[in-house]
Amino acid sequence: MTTNATRIADHGPTAEAAVPDDFEGQYVRTLVDRWDQLIDWDRRRASEQDFFMELLNGAEAQRVLDVAAGTGYHSVTLAQQGFDVTAADGSAEMIERTRRNAERHGQNFRVLQADWRSLRESIDGRYDAIVCLGSSFPHLFQEPDRRAVLTEFYEALNPGGILIIDHRNFDAIRQHRYRSSGNYYYCGTGATVTVAHVDEQLCRFQYDFPDGSTHHLEVYPILSGELSSLLIDAGFDAIQNFGDFRENFAIEDVDFVIHVARKS
Ligand code: SAM
Repeated sequence: MTTNATRIADHGPTAEAAVPDDFEGQYVRTLVDRWDQLIDWDRRRASEQDFFMELLNGAEAQRVLDVAAGTGYHSVTLAQQGFDVTAADGSAEMIERTRRNAERHGQNFRVLQADWRSLRESIDGRYDAIVCLGSSFPHLFQEPDRRAVLTEFYEALNPGGILIIDHRNFDAIRQHRYRSSGNYYYCGTGATVTVAHVDEQLCRFQYDFPDGSTHHLEVYPILSGELSSLLIDAGFDAIQNFGDFRENFAIEDVDFVIHVARKS
């Protein structure tokens, strides 16, 4: 019997020397095929409710760029809620799934393949909001890349625009006391997700599926304060944090941290 609970399996003794920068290579077709099984769109919708819609409406956003569309959950949901959505992702496999899911849900929005590091070469004009969700930003392992990408996001926003960016609670994961409730973002019940290794530079998640297949995703375990500092350095102000969609939270109690940063 598998569960959706994330458990610590083994934190590993030391970091592997090389960290992957090839996010696209990590999203192999067999994992992408299972992504919606990991999410469970209905359960995800039930847990998020109107959190993102309310943030976007509060910022009077209309034109929204989802830079880590994945299989398209947020792009489709926001389009259904009436936002003018552009879905982007660096992975051709993911972008194909976004297209299919948009069609399946009767939504018609722009979909493009774009690496964040050269985002402005791919997009058309500026946006009122950028969303980078599902713990995608930790795919950047190098600090210069993290800084450059936040600058790309900043420049792609209209004045007054907001960036909503999140990550798993690596503050807890790095202290080896992470437990996922399975109630946020990745709500599917078909796979077991464990932390196979974590140190200050690398976190390797292991996904075990009921058919016996196993996948790994490797990310940089960014701390919440670290991202807040980078956002300020990139020029953002009025940064607000949420834990599992709540304004009042204790960092040790949450699965995900969500940062909302405004371009003044
Ligand atoms: N937002 C989706 C969700 O919540 O289900 C997908 C999240 S998945 C963890 C991370 C996504 O970020 C992948 O689809 C991956 O292709 C994309 N990604 C990672 N690094 C990227 C980069 N440098 N440029 C563009 N997309 C990137």
